[in-house]
Amino acid sequence: MTTQISSFVNGAYVNDASASVFQNINPATGKVICSVEAATPATLDAAIQSSLKAFKVWSKMPAIERSRRLLKAVEILRNRNDELALIEVEDTGKPWSEASTVDVVTGADSIEYFAGLAPTQVGTQQALGNDFFYTRQEPLGVVAGIGAWNYPLQIACWKAAPALAAGNVIVFKPSEETPRGALKLAEVFIEAGIPEGVFNVVQGDGKVGEWLTQHPNIAKVSFTGEVNTGCKVMAASSKTLKSVTMELGGKSPLIIFDDADLEQAVIASMLANFYTQGEVCTHGTRVFVQSGIYQRFVERLQDSIKTLKVGDPLNPDTHIGALISSSHMEKVLDYIRIGVEEGAHLLSGGRRVDHFECKNGYFVEPTVFTHCSDDMRICQEEIFGPVMSILCFDSEEEVIKRANNTGFGLAAGVFTQNIQKGHRVIHQIEAGICWINQYGASPAEMPVGGYKMSGVGRENGLETLGHYTQTKSIYVGIDPIESPYI
Ligand code: NAD
Repeated sequence: MTTQISSFVNGAYVNDASASVFQNINPATGKVICSVEAATPATLDAAIQSSLKAFKVWSKMPAIERSRRLLKAVEILRNRNDELALIEVEDTGKPWSEASTVDVVTGADSIEYFAGLAPTQVGTQQALGNDFFYTRQEPLGVVAGIGAWNYPLQIACWKAAPALAAGNVIVFKPSEETPRGALKLAEVFIEAGIPEGVFNVVQGDGKVGEWLTQHPNIAKVSFTGEVNTGCKVMAASSKTLKSVTMELGGKSPLIIFDDADLEQAVIASMLANFYTQGEVCTHGTRVFVQSGIYQRFVERLQDSIKTLKVGDPLNPDTHIGALISSSHMEKVLDYIRIGVEEGAHLLSGGRRVDHFECKNGYFVEPTVFTHCSDDMRICQEEIFGPVMSILCFDSEEEVIKRANNTGFGLAAGVFTQNIQKGHRVIHQIEAGICWINQYGASPAEMPVGGYKMSGVGRENGLETLGHYTQTKSIYVGIDPIESPYI
């Protein structure tokens, strides 16, 4: 018999016999991990009531005490790294080598960073003659977090960290594909002494997300997902003027100049396309290679790809795991067919992997297209799978123009050994998360978020704490009021 999990409200798992149930599938095996009770309207109402109650307690707690409890949660997360990483591997299909070293680690880092910042929030005070005013940074209230499935626990941590540090509470809805990571975070917060209701988890699909974005008691929505969904979330949120953070998709350029370190550029292009089997929003899926290094780059890449091992995500040697679902795998394979039909040259990969241990899972070979042109769909649309498109360019001016010729603006990378050129080019790229001679590093200290259709607001970094507070100005009269009437 499969186990059943549910929403987590006010410090406890919900048990609602009237709830509809969906299945959580392990994408590497196609087997059911557990069934999940979707949140009913009664559960959603209970979550909001519990959040409102918890807000009164949490927002009044001295920030240094909030910080201590968040740091306790960080300690527990780190102690449970492997147990939590295993859940992420089973729910997402990503390799153990990544989940055990990145997912929980970067989630905990973000909470640690914002816990440190919590007691540093100060207001201002200014004299106006004898009168004066001062400001207070006050939390917003109940924040809805809505997550994608590619980094379930990390996304929950990145949203909880600034929100809770600033004194808000959260109702978090994980993706219906990956319901377990956020529940574990909720348990950790309770164990760390964070009051019941500060972090509630509601399970379900877009309908539950929609409900949250429409609810009048929710002050802000922090969303991670596709651009189209983000537009719907923003439109729904506008009805009650909620503030929003939108972490959306991308089709980012990775630019490799003739003078780049070839080995480093090849490593970066592989990381920027095959990490987490291509399911990373910031991936540099349009790889622009300058004509002088093009041939050598392609040959070196072709050799390197042969070392990639696609297989059982739990095997520590596996580099490429399973895609999130059968339908997502079909979407990725469709894009590969479209690339071939559009006339791109399939340099390597391109097929489903279904031998031995991959037999019932949703695996796709690391795939590289050369002879691509900017107008091909594989170079314009987010595929979110292990598919790299290589484009050739001649001049700096040309590549900047082509790199920016997209509605997305999430990330970008430049490889060159010319320090002036590296900065000069990246300053002209329309993207929020940029790397020079690096790709993908995203420490908690660095703000991340998109330009153009890739997002609104930022996660991580100093400025993000400010997105979870509002300023109250308080004017204090010392001098008597002079009446204009008498
Ligand atoms: P998605 O947009 O399909 O779903 C995201 C979440 O929104 C899910 O929890 C889903 O249930 C919910 N949802 C669906 N419809 C909704 C509605 N109408 N109202 C409210 N919520 C709704 O995205 P996905 O397939 O889960 O994730 C992949 C996408 O996420 C990719 O486009 C990727 O680039 C993006 N992503 C972005 C970042 C970033 O930081 N910029 C990080 C990770 C993933």
